[in-house]
Amino acid sequence: MLSYDVVEWGKPLQKATRETPKPTGTEVLLKLKYCGVCHSDVHIHEGFFDLGGGKRFHMSERGMHPPVTLGHEPFGTVVAAGPDAGDVPMGADRLVCPWIGCGVCARCREGMDNYCMNPRNIGVQRPGGYADHLLVPHAKYLVDASGVDPAWAATLSCSGLTTYSAVSKLKPIPEDEWVAVMGAGGLGLMAIEMLRALGHQRIVSVDIDAAKLEAARAAGAAATVDGRAADAAKRLKDSTGGALYGAVDLVGATSTASLALGALRKGGKLILVGLFGGEIPLSLVSVVQRALTIQASYVGTVPELKEVVALARGGKLKRIPIEKRPLADVSHTLEQLKAGTIIGRVVAEIQ
Ligand SMILES: [Zn+2]
Ligand SMILES: [Zn+2]
Repeated sequence: MLSYDVVEWGKPLQKATRETPKPTGTEVLLKLKYCGVCHSDVHIHEGFFDLGGGKRFHMSERGMHPPVTLGHEPFGTVVAAGPDAGDVPMGADRLVCPWIGCGVCARCREGMDNYCMNPRNIGVQRPGGYADHLLVPHAKYLVDASGVDPAWAATLSCSGLTTYSAVSKLKPIPEDEWVAVMGAGGLGLMAIEMLRALGHQRIVSVDIDAAKLEAARAAGAAATVDGRAADAAKRLKDSTGGALYGAVDLVGATSTASLALGALRKGGKLILVGLFGGEIPLSLVSVVQRALTIQASYVGTVPELKEVVALARGGKLKRIPIEKRPLADVSHTLEQLKAGTIIGRVVAEIQ
């Protein structure tokens, strides 16, 4: 099999060939067709996340030691299965939910693999989809996305699932109240579309880039606020007629989280998703007196991914622009993602 691997953190990926693995136990083997090139791979490729305050989280602490194969938005055809795999859709195309836990702990047994303390995520701890074959530990992580364009479906398993799970944590959202979406990059636009797909209209998008705010409006934001404005906090409150019911921060910077938190009404909720990196001072008394909830959302579960696919299949979710590129270009694509020069999403096409 062929893969493009991180051999040294931050350096261009290298092409590698090795024997195609044979599935054992409950494993299934997929011949891949597509793999989305997700922005989080830029951080993983660098080998660390910025935790703010000069602190870093290194991927080695998450059990990653190069050479490793990244890519956590895989889509392919089931071609083989281990003896204990059970009922497997052999020969069928499937989307893979990459967020996989140990399989035995209480969280995994209740289907909350994304809360497992010993994750085996595809493209993180396990070899990922920048390859022509992929081993998946169990068929329960395969999702039928028939009726959805496969290249688009691939992108649903990270950015789609992440934003869906995040905005779902605000449910039930009162129809007449406002939700702010912090950041109008790929994830921000997706979050706007997820809110719209769930039937919510009163969405205000906050970004520091005029072109991105325009894209947010096109995606369905009812109002936009320039986060760089000196009176951004006032503008945000004014645009919502008082205060926000909730906010989803897809950036995760000091500025975005503080702005959102300051604009929440009593009982408001801030959902943190973005991993830009930063920290905020928090007045504990103020959090109590305003009865605020600050909650994080990290990827999502297989049932949630099925719900996202259903929204896409039912035409509720607007398709984002997808550019297909050969798998051999994945290293170059990561560089462009890092430089911020990609509009929409790139999906690697695998021969
Ligand atoms: Zn991702
Ligand atoms: Zn577990």
